[in-house]
Amino acid sequence: MRAGGDWLAAWPCPAAVARMTAAVELDQVSCVFGSGPGAVRAVDGVDLAIDAGEFFTLLGPSGSGKTTCLRMIGGFTLPTAGRIRIGGADVTAAPPYARPVNTVFQDYALFPHMSIRDNVAYPLMVRKVGKAERARRADELLALVQLPGVADRRPAQLSGGQRQRVALARALIGQPQVLLLDEPLGALDLKLREQMQSELKALQRRLGITFLFITHDQHEALSMSDRIGVFNAGRLEQVGTPQAVYDTPATRFVAHFVGAANVLEGEIARRLTGHAAAMLRPERIRLGESRDARAAGTVAEVQYFGAFTRVKVDVGGALLQADLPTSPGHAPPPAGSEAHLHWDGRAVHALAG
Ligand code: ATP
Repeated sequence: MRAGGDWLAAWPCPAAVARMTAAVELDQVSCVFGSGPGAVRAVDGVDLAIDAGEFFTLLGPSGSGKTTCLRMIGGFTLPTAGRIRIGGADVTAAPPYARPVNTVFQDYALFPHMSIRDNVAYPLMVRKVGKAERARRADELLALVQLPGVADRRPAQLSGGQRQRVALARALIGQPQVLLLDEPLGALDLKLREQMQSELKALQRRLGITFLFITHDQHEALSMSDRIGVFNAGRLEQVGTPQAVYDTPATRFVAHFVGAANVLEGEIARRLTGHAAAMLRPERIRLGESRDARAAGTVAEVQYFGAFTRVKVDVGGALLQADLPTSPGHAPPPAGSEAHLHWDGRAVHALAG
C-alpha cells in the first residue's frame, strides 16, 4: 500500500493539538421524535467524551439510539436538549458542512453515474479544488484503501466490499477530524467483514484521526475499539475498554449483550458465588471431577459451535452454560449425564442489586 502524498502526511488534525481536548463531547444530549403520548425518546441525557485519535464504538441493539446519536454529531439531526462540542467548539446547531466530521453511511450512498475517481473526489469538487489536484488526491486515497486500478469504473462495476472502500475514501478526502461510521460493514459477508475490520483499524491507526463507529455486533466492537459505549433504550449503560466491558459489565444488560453470560440471582447466586447477583462467562467454566467442584448438575443440552461446544447444565433448576474448547478425540458429555463444574473464583463478577 502506498503511504500517501504530502497533503495526507499533513492531516489537519495534528495529534498534539487535538489531544489537548476531547474530539467529541456530548453534554446531557437528548433527542425526542414527535410529541404527546407517541413521542419517542431516542437518546436520553447522554454524556460522553471521545478522545482525539480514539477508535470509539457505540454498541447496542436495534432501536437503542446509536444512529440518532451519530446523526446529531454529524449535524443531520438536531438534539432536543444538551450541547455537542467537536474539537472544543460548540457545534450543537451547526449544519453538517460546517463541522469537521464526515460520515460513511451503511448504504455507501455513491453516485451511480459518476466514475469511482469522481465519486471519491466529489467533496473536493464542491470545495472548487482544481480538476488535476482532485484526481491526484482521489487516486492517492484509492491506493490508501487498497483499491488501485478501479478509478475509471462505475460503482455498479464493483463488489460490495470495494464500494465500501470507495465510500471510505470519499469520506476521508475532505480530511475530517472525526470520521463517523454507521454500520459500514453491515452489508458484507463474514470473511470480507473480518478483513475490513482489520483494514479499518489499521487505517485509523495510520491516519491518527478519531473514528466513531456504530455497530450492533459485539465481536466487531470488541475486536476493533479502544473504548466501547454500550447503548440501551437511548442511554449509555457503560463506557469502557473492551476488556472492562466484557470482564466487568456494569449492568445485567451489558453482561448479556456483550458476549454470552451466566447471570445468577438470588439463592443460587449466593450459594455458588457468595454474591446476591453475579456473572460468570461460559468459557471460564470447566467440567471436571466431583472433588472440589463448585457445582454439580445434569447436562440438559449440548450445542456444537465448531471452535467450542456449549454445554448447558441444570444446577438445581438454574441452567449454567459452559463453553468447552473442542479437541479431537474429546467428546463432550452427553445430555442426561452428570457434570461437575469448576471455575476460578476470580471469574465471578458481582453485579449490583
Ligand atoms: P439500528 O441499529 O436499527 O439502526 P439504532 O440503535 O441506530 O437502531 P435509532 O435509529 O437511533 O436506533 O432509533 C432510536 C429510536 O428512535 C427508535 O425507536 C426509532 O424508531 C426512533 N426514530 C429514529 N429516527 C426517527 C425519526 N426520524 N422519527 C421518529 N422516530 C425515529
